[in-house]
Amino acid sequence: MSEERSLNFIEEIVEDDLATGKNGNRVLTRFPPEPNGYLHIGHAKSICLNFGLAKKYNGLTNLRFDDTNPVKEDVEYVDSIKEDVKWLGFDWANELYASDYFDQLYAFAVELIKAGLAYVDDSTAEEIAAQKGTPTEPGTPNQYRSRSVEENLQLFADMKDGKYPDGAKVLRAKVDLASPNMHLRDPLMYRIKHAHHHRTGDKWCIYPMYDFAHGQSDAIEEITHSICTLEFVPHRPLYEWFIEKLEIFPSKQYEFARLNLNYTVMSKRKLLQLVTEKFVDGWDDPRMPTISGLRRRGYTPASIREFCERIGVAKRENMIDVGLLEFCIREDLNKTAWRRMAVLDPVKLILDNYPEGETEVMHGENNPEVEGGDGGRDIPFGRELWIEREDFMENPPKKFFRLGIGMMVRLKNAYIIKGESIVKDADGNIIEIHCSYLPESKSGNDTSGINVKGTIHWVSVEHAKTAEVRLYDRLFQVEDPSNEDGDFKDYINPNSLQILPTVYMEPDLVNAELGKPVQFMRKGYFTVDKTSTADKLVFNRTVTLKDGWVKK
Ligand code: ATP
Ligand code: MG
Repeated sequence: MSEERSLNFIEEIVEDDLATGKNGNRVLTRFPPEPNGYLHIGHAKSICLNFGLAKKYNGLTNLRFDDTNPVKEDVEYVDSIKEDVKWLGFDWANELYASDYFDQLYAFAVELIKAGLAYVDDSTAEEIAAQKGTPTEPGTPNQYRSRSVEENLQLFADMKDGKYPDGAKVLRAKVDLASPNMHLRDPLMYRIKHAHHHRTGDKWCIYPMYDFAHGQSDAIEEITHSICTLEFVPHRPLYEWFIEKLEIFPSKQYEFARLNLNYTVMSKRKLLQLVTEKFVDGWDDPRMPTISGLRRRGYTPASIREFCERIGVAKRENMIDVGLLEFCIREDLNKTAWRRMAVLDPVKLILDNYPEGETEVMHGENNPEVEGGDGGRDIPFGRELWIEREDFMENPPKKFFRLGIGMMVRLKNAYIIKGESIVKDADGNIIEIHCSYLPESKSGNDTSGINVKGTIHWVSVEHAKTAEVRLYDRLFQVEDPSNEDGDFKDYINPNSLQILPTVYMEPDLVNAELGKPVQFMRKGYFTVDKTSTADKLVFNRTVTLKDGWVKK
């Protein structure tokens, strides 16, 4: 699949650690999603990195749900995340939940209180923000900062026991109110939230903050390399402070640049808005950058892994062209998808010199990219055919190598034909194209001696099956909708979905299966939609055939 490549900077770190015998030569990574939405292609990058690294160095990866925010989380999300990670081709060593550690985290907090390193603060969120100072001015301690250990222990226990309403108190780490790093200015460790948790139920009404849950969970699991995105760089000193003060396993945090993809949005909060406000048909709408959306669209796990491999692991943020993702799926499907004929925008073609009532069976390969054609299929042929409206022109320009009056083309896997005349309706639309065919030009047994420049696809009118076909375009009209004025939803592409209610297909396509991609010749790669039934076939276009992406 991928060529040899040099080590990325995280692999270099791991190899150094292995060379010096750090962590007992163990590599244990984790993928830590918050179950508050479906995974997107950015998460795929993190998954490939974490699982890929462990695989490469004979290590393991934990799947850890970062479920410390009960209000936004749900089991539906947990289930979808597990399905998506598996579908991408990865297996986790352990399925874990930060909420499994709530007792341990509480004990850690008590330890810090006893060491004089944490205190209960009664200030409001606004007061705390005001007292924190600014990056150039130090913060100011309030009266709660000097509470005694005993008082803090009692108040923290009371917080846990539900004696206070939401927001009445918080537990803060006593670090350094003058630190140039704002994250070290006595960060919050716990907040009161009387909310039902999808796993712990009503047991807890205080919940740990990300900074107090994440690193401690890493340490509990003895994660060797805790890989996250760049926005956590300023959190690293706090990550290390907690580990040092608690004297727990010294997991190390490393940061890489998050994946940004153009013409879409990637934050779960924004994707959720698209779903709830019905701009799309659910989290797995084929236009969504979610793993489930890409799957429904017809992307394969291999193409997504290849994409993640190609973009590499960077230390600086950049914007990746969605054309690269499309390039990866084209490369993959070109090797695997069976070729079939379907006419998306039909016009009728009649072979005047073909005997009326007669039919014959043509033969086509499944995939010319595979030696031997990967088998083949029969294609019924007759006097009346559907062809693509754009394949005929009444007044063709010079370089038009398809059909016109007096012009010849080959019908794929069949005969050479010549345009003779057309019939129009009252509005001037072409409704019939009359042609003659050359009986001696049959594909595979062509003795006509005639060479034609163009080959077009077709479907026999008598034998055609119909399907609904959905064509997709970019969901947004601008490259970076999150960085435009106003709401990102103002930039949604109104034409991102085009539904063709009646597409004519060669009959073999009724055997198309979910998850088995096909190429509609000259029209793109398609896949059966999950809503497709025997009575009403529905296909999604995964990607067009043309490569819009310029190789660098
Ligand atoms: P979002 O902002 O989309 O909601 P998140 O970072 O809040 O994403 P988490 O569920 O917390 O989502 O992320 C799980 C893991 O995936 C984290 O380690 C996070 O850094 C990583 N991740 C999230 N988005 C990206 C991205 N665009 N590129 C690479 N990694 C990402
Ligand atoms: Mg998050």
